[in-house]
Amino acid sequence: MTTDQPLRAPACGPATADLFHDEARYDAAKRICRTCPLREDCLEEALDRREPAGVFGGRDQWERRALLRQRGLQLDTITPRWRAILESPEASAKLRKLRSRGWSTARIAQVLRTITPVIERALAELDAATDLVEAA
Ligand code: SF4
Repeated sequence: MTTDQPLRAPACGPATADLFHDEARYDAAKRICRTCPLREDCLEEALDRREPAGVFGGRDQWERRALLRQRGLQLDTITPRWRAILESPEASAKLRKLRSRGWSTARIAQVLRTITPVIERALAELDAATDLVEAA
């Protein structure tokens, strides 16, 4: 993927955020997800992060648990997406480059085909590692 590709915007946003964490309104949230171009990535990231609640990628927490069971995934054998980015020389270099250019986490997430919380976690881990090196 190159940075010249068109960016995909999520179908959800601040105006609809409450729907995704209110079990009584999960159906409305899932309808929004059905129109979202990021749906597959969003679901995979939520599975990787073991999101405990809410609708992500059109699936609520009970559906995500069932999916994990179907895949036979072990909780401790998954590499979270944020860690995979940091461990990939190419993705890690791109993350650092785009941040040094002042790109927002949302925009970086689109380029790296993930979602904003993953990039936020990756950057936090990167900063923590840098602080440790500088303190040594
Ligand atoms: S798939 Fe993810 S990013 Fe898209 S609308 Fe649903 S929760 Fe939002």
